[in-house]
Amino acid sequence: MIATKAYAAQNKNSGLAPWNFERRDVGPRDVQFDILYCGVCHSDLHQIKDEWGGAIFPMVPGHEIVGRVVKVGSEVKKFKVGDLAGTGCLVDSCRQCDNCQHGLEQYCTNGHSQTYNGLEQDHKTPTYGGYSNTIVVHEDFVLSVSEKLDLAAVAPLLCAGITTYSPLRHWKVGKGHKLGVVGLGGLGHMAVKFGVAFGAEVTVLSTSSKKEADAKKLGAHKFLVTSDKEQMKAAAGTFDFLLDTVSAEHDLNAYLALLKTDGVHICVGVPPEAAKVHAFSLVPGRKSLVGSMIGGLPETQEMLDFCAEHNIVSDIELVNMKDINTAYDRMLKGDVRYRFVIDMATL
Ligand code: NAP
Ligand code: ZN
Ligand code: ZN
Repeated sequence: MIATKAYAAQNKNSGLAPWNFERRDVGPRDVQFDILYCGVCHSDLHQIKDEWGGAIFPMVPGHEIVGRVVKVGSEVKKFKVGDLAGTGCLVDSCRQCDNCQHGLEQYCTNGHSQTYNGLEQDHKTPTYGGYSNTIVVHEDFVLSVSEKLDLAAVAPLLCAGITTYSPLRHWKVGKGHKLGVVGLGGLGHMAVKFGVAFGAEVTVLSTSSKKEADAKKLGAHKFLVTSDKEQMKAAAGTFDFLLDTVSAEHDLNAYLALLKTDGVHICVGVPPEAAKVHAFSLVPGRKSLVGSMIGGLPETQEMLDFCAEHNIVSDIELVNMKDINTAYDRMLKGDVRYRFVIDMATL
């Protein structure tokens, strides 16, 4: 077994503190990489507080993981010692079901193994995430990372990146489309970058005007303050797509009113509370309310390669491991420009 240092939550009220555990030895198809950087996702916060239910404690969060390979199993073909590597929200899946066979491991019908707060495919052994110094993952769930990009700023691509890339690709958002990105946080700022790269006209929909200058710097064409009733009224019926990254309770009906006929509201944010949607928000304009979860392994690699080619990374603030609880407090207040990344050298 491999002695591993980490930060963990012991229960839903504990916050995060140092914790040690053991990872499995490197099997024939496993890759072990030392973690250099790990992004901080709002899902980490939802889960350590057990806001979605079913939390497994102790919990080591972190699913935006990048580092360098230190050991490979005897049958590993994709990686060698010294390579850069990344792992996102998944570390395994059944590999047999229709979705797994089509590279949609995130929708594995037999239950995938999420990187933390989940179970390995033996359905017994808990998984522990990237707020730790090293990780062992089956090579099929390890991504290749380009040496060309700033590694710390690549980390958030493994969740915030793929979660916004995948739905924009699936619904073929691009030239001629008006895309509204709801919420300018970790996911939102990546959605702006991808939306612009795919050729859409991108508007950021934010709760205040504080992030307007940043939104323009990120490439957004327009900015809409959602607390301003006049601005909301003026924007009614103008969007083809809304990509909703909001982490807290919000009125979906108010946003659905902004869609054109046949417009699509894509939920990627997962507030703990259930939303109330009136049928009249959907029926008159034949509108769709849909959802999307992260992305499968092939598409995650495609996204990383696209980012390397187009020089796309996340805008980050590097934090020390010991400051993680403060970073969570700031994330909750929307005070993050635009993703915290933990420098694992400080663990
Ligand atoms: P984040 O960085 O905290 O950003 C969330 C943004 O939502 C905030 O910056 C804020 O933007 C906006 N917001 C917050 N409270 C709001 C409210 N009450 N009303 C309207 N807007 C509000 O979080 P994140 O890491 O991007 O994650 C966002 C959500 O996506 C979380 O729920 C997370 O769990 C979920 N997620 C889902 C997937 C998936 O596979 N579907 C993957 C990763 C994360 P403004 O300041 O601009 O208003
Ligand atoms: Zn995430
Ligand atoms: Zn499956």
